[in-house]
Amino acid sequence: MDDIGANLARIRERIEAAAHRARRDSAEVTLVAVSKTHPAESVLAALGAGQTTFGENRVQEAASKFPALRPGHPALRLHIIGGLQTNKARDAVRIADVIESLDRPKLAAALADAMEKEGRRPSLLVQVNVGDEPQKAGIARAGAADFLRACREEWNLPVEGLMCIPPAEGDPRPHFAWLRELAAREGLRTLSMGMSADFEIAIEEGATHVRVGSAIFGHRDYA
Ligand SMILES: *Cc1c(COP(=O)(O)O)cnc(C)c1O
Repeated sequence: MDDIGANLARIRERIEAAAHRARRDSAEVTLVAVSKTHPAESVLAALGAGQTTFGENRVQEAASKFPALRPGHPALRLHIIGGLQTNKARDAVRIADVIESLDRPKLAAALADAMEKEGRRPSLLVQVNVGDEPQKAGIARAGAADFLRACREEWNLPVEGLMCIPPAEGDPRPHFAWLRELAAREGLRTLSMGMSADFEIAIEEGATHVRVGSAIFGHRDYA
């Protein structure tokens, strides 16, 4: 568990350096520590090292770890970053501070309904499929602007920004730049982009949130 504190310190230094290169203030960049598949003890080790913002892919896994930690850690912030089924929308609204994976009209409608029923409004990010990859979640690039308008006007959702996962192959930089430009056109401040392998490039391209998992918690065992 000592590793987690040391890994966090190293990631924070790298965030600092990337922000400096881009002439940005590193305080503009929030580190989302992605704890999926790792036990609550790992989350506690990270909390002990001063980390407060966490990301989880699955609502059920998040629900099994995080609500119990909240009373002792009031600064804790939970982001749901994985593909969300409409039948999990209500659970997600109940436990999350931010939902980063809003990517289709059916989910927008389900989240609007869940927010009304729960009396809780987590911030939302719209996930854009920046590589227009058929196997990947996210709204298609060409439909993103219309979808954002519908989220705000039709469903009155608290959309604060954009999220993307660029293609695994090739240079992520043009994808990050594309997302930044879309956010600027749409007047959105939050840009969640960059993971363990590419968060420094994402910061250079304007990321306000980087989602780092394995570089903090180690390899994931899905067995
Ligand atoms: C797992 C995951 C991450 C973290 O990935 P690492 O490569 O382990 O840093 C970031 N974003 C999303 C959406 C993920 O599912």
